[in-house]
Amino acid sequence: MASGSASLMWFRKGLRIHDNPALDFARQESERLYPVFIIDPRYMEPDLNAFSPGSTRAGINRIKFLLESLVDLDLNLKKLGSRLLILRGEPEKVLIHCLKEWNIRKLCFEYDTDPYYKALDIKVKNYAVAAGIEVFSPVSHTLFNPADIIDMNGGKPPLSYQSFVKIAGQPSCPLSTTVSSLPPVGDLGSCETSEVPTIEELGYRNVTQQEFSPFKGGESEALKRLAECMKRKDFVANFEKPKGNPAAFLSPETTILSPYLKFGCLSSRYFYQQIQDVYKTMPNHTSPPVSLLGQLLWRDFFYTVAFGTPNFDKMKGNGICKQIPWKDDDKLLEAWREARTGFPWIDAIMVQLRQWGWMHHLARHSVACFLTRGDLFVHWEKGRDVFERLLIDSDWAINNGNWLWLSCSSFFYQYNRIYSPISFGKKYDPKGDYIRHFLPVLKDMPKEYIYEPWTAPLSVQKKANCIIGKDYPMPVVSHDSASKECRRGVAEAYALNKELNDSIGEEDLKNLRRKLDEETPEQETKPKRYRQKLIG
Ligand code: FAD
Repeated sequence: MASGSASLMWFRKGLRIHDNPALDFARQESERLYPVFIIDPRYMEPDLNAFSPGSTRAGINRIKFLLESLVDLDLNLKKLGSRLLILRGEPEKVLIHCLKEWNIRKLCFEYDTDPYYKALDIKVKNYAVAAGIEVFSPVSHTLFNPADIIDMNGGKPPLSYQSFVKIAGQPSCPLSTTVSSLPPVGDLGSCETSEVPTIEELGYRNVTQQEFSPFKGGESEALKRLAECMKRKDFVANFEKPKGNPAAFLSPETTILSPYLKFGCLSSRYFYQQIQDVYKTMPNHTSPPVSLLGQLLWRDFFYTVAFGTPNFDKMKGNGICKQIPWKDDDKLLEAWREARTGFPWIDAIMVQLRQWGWMHHLARHSVACFLTRGDLFVHWEKGRDVFERLLIDSDWAINNGNWLWLSCSSFFYQYNRIYSPISFGKKYDPKGDYIRHFLPVLKDMPKEYIYEPWTAPLSVQKKANCIIGKDYPMPVVSHDSASKECRRGVAEAYALNKELNDSIGEEDLKNLRRKLDEETPEQETKPKRYRQKLIG
């Protein structure tokens, strides 16, 4: 067999056959094709010290979703005469070993804008180029190439959705041809490959079924879900966010395609095209930013800003992020993370996050606002970390972008608009069915008290088998005073950002934190009555 005809297709995201330009290019003029996925211990190895089952970086739900996506990819590759080769170890080392061992002449992988892959890919590319290997790394995870948009905007990312949409226009690339057959896998030499491991084979034991998300990974599932959505033409044409019920959990009111887009089981470009096809038959459809197509543009907007903003995932050194003296209160953070805030609406959402790894957008708004500028004044980076670990759709650019937004650190600055942890959910779900489902301890609480169970008379609590302060916590803060204090904190931080021309130092922030603590009466900052009893 000619040595010049071996190609390696390195799957990371982009776990699909359809619209996969890297795979299409890899197969062309290749006599042998090695489709590879590398299990990176950094991402997949169990971490027994983490706050929930999973690895250091990913909760068990996302790991399971990834494994399911790999099994599906393997099956789909087999239908085309190939199969997925699973390798384990540090990606750079494993990959270089394979390139040598299989005498690869063409290396193909989807371009990735995440900082981890950007750094890794430079090293791999440098090796490949020096070894005379052709590298093909197309942009196919997003509708647009973030670098092109930044170029068109004079070297800077557009910072508003409207300016992004104006610059971006329509995605120009036609979809890649879906391949109908693939060259066979060649001899494996000394490279140790395996089938896709099970979650147990990865070392995850004693994980109870309750912790698993109802959403199954894989391209087949993604395409099925997409086709079902597209059949509902009225739903597609009338889609309007942020309308929609965040408490609708039996039949969620959005597509739940985010985890499939995250892993690239679904091409965002194919999704976009499918929506356009529906619009052609439904001329009276909604438009961006609220439409379904508009949601995909939000995704690309955050990818572009994230790509072009140094330290996008941090407050410090991030030129588009307001510097705010957030509190360093791990007890409040834990109460939020562990669904023990005493506000049933917030706690139910946090249980859904833990159990499903997915919540409605407005539910994410509620808990992100509550943790940061709404009630607890805890740093957005800490909430971001919890989401990053537990979401099955956890996405570096989108998650950071939305936390910056919700904490009023960037993009959105109307800090007076706070989501009430009591009345917001009640508006959608007055009987509290969502709360009863995710917090069964409150299932018999009468609807009059379900959003504020601490106000229920003791006799009612007894009858509902739920004594507040014993079976379910008292609230960690008083919403009225905490939200007032938060507004003041953000207002003063904004004033300081303006005064110092957005160049605030650490000392300035410490001084402001001290001033805010001194100005706030003890009973407001530390509602002892609540906190000592519950989370102390
Ligand atoms: P749909 O409403 O059906 O939208 C279709 C697709 O559009 C989504 O799958 C998603 O890819 C994209 N989209 C929708 N809303 C947004 C948005 N606000 N920003 C960017 N893209 C969007 N989404 C993630 O995919 N990963 C994350 O890690 C993530 N973290 C978030 C953190 C916070 C604090 C908040 C408020 C939102 C976050 N989102 C994240 C955005 C949004 O909530 C989810 O994309 C959406 O709820 C996913 O459900 P869906 O697929 O049914 O969305």
